[in-house]
Amino acid sequence: MQERTSDNPSPDITGPFTDIVRRGLQVIGENIPQDLQLNVLVLTFVIAALIWLFRNGHGSKGADGRARKAGFLKFLIPRDIYTHVSARVDIGLYVITRLFHAVWGVAIFAIVGPWSENLMITSLQTIFGDSPAMQVNYGWMMLYSLVSLLFYDFIFFLTHYAFHKVPALWAIHKVHHSAEVLTPLTRYREHFIAGPVWIAGQSLSLGLAAGIFAFLFAGNITEATLLNISFFLLLFGFTGSLRHYHVQLHYPVWLSRWLQSPAMHHVHHSYLAPHWDKNFAVITSLWDRLFGTLYIPEKDEYTPWGIGPETQADYRSLWQNISGPFRDWRAMLKR
Ligand SMILES: [Zn+2]
Ligand SMILES: [Zn+2]
Repeated sequence: MQERTSDNPSPDITGPFTDIVRRGLQVIGENIPQDLQLNVLVLTFVIAALIWLFRNGHGSKGADGRARKAGFLKFLIPRDIYTHVSARVDIGLYVITRLFHAVWGVAIFAIVGPWSENLMITSLQTIFGDSPAMQVNYGWMMLYSLVSLLFYDFIFFLTHYAFHKVPALWAIHKVHHSAEVLTPLTRYREHFIAGPVWIAGQSLSLGLAAGIFAFLFAGNITEATLLNISFFLLLFGFTGSLRHYHVQLHYPVWLSRWLQSPAMHHVHHSYLAPHWDKNFAVITSLWDRLFGTLYIPEKDEYTPWGIGPETQADYRSLWQNISGPFRDWRAMLKR
């Protein structure tokens, strides 16, 4: 596990980030991201089919964001969504983003992660002295996995919040929100500048959590994993692929106060004023609750997707989306 050696500056302890980097590079270096692999897509369709069955044909939305009753095929793969210009632009943006991801996204992950891990270890050593070198057992590994998940979710929340509230960043993130329909590819619909920001935040959070546990256990700890995925991420994140899918997977209200249901992300993509800047986190509802941005939708709530009728026409084609941030920044500079 501990392959990192001499080029590693100060702390004597090397943390578990090596392990995260190994798994992370496997995931982000893959040509097809996890969400789009066959097993996850099949799981998504199975969950959707069950919703169709139990809700007697209700539970999906059309391209207009309105709930409607539909036959089985129309329910799973509706024509109005998959022939929409937005779904086509998703493909182009996906291809471009993946290319950039492979080049500098991976580099950022491998630099920021170990850096933040070392920073945490060194800081803790300065404050508390030597590592207590505690004994690892599976309970601690589970706790490490849970803490990583919470750190990840919190930094995701903060990054996402900044993407919405800082105008120069919103110019970039707008490309994700210019999606007028939700398809599994929409998750990867981003401007290519956004990817490295997300990855930097992700590796910062995992690195900081790794640093704490590396200090406590003198580097001898790895996350509890199942199928090579962090235990809690697998437990709580397995419905994540439905966040960008027109079928609504709701959780009971009490559970939505703790975990983000996929249907809550439908709200995040809606241009109706009460839905703006809501549900920023990806896994838990804790941070949205704490910062007052939680919105639990009614069943079948109307969520028209996109950036709204006034500006949508400027963000329709692939080129409009790629050039969007640069247009916005130029306008900001002129002002
Ligand atoms: Zn957003
Ligand atoms: Zn989204």
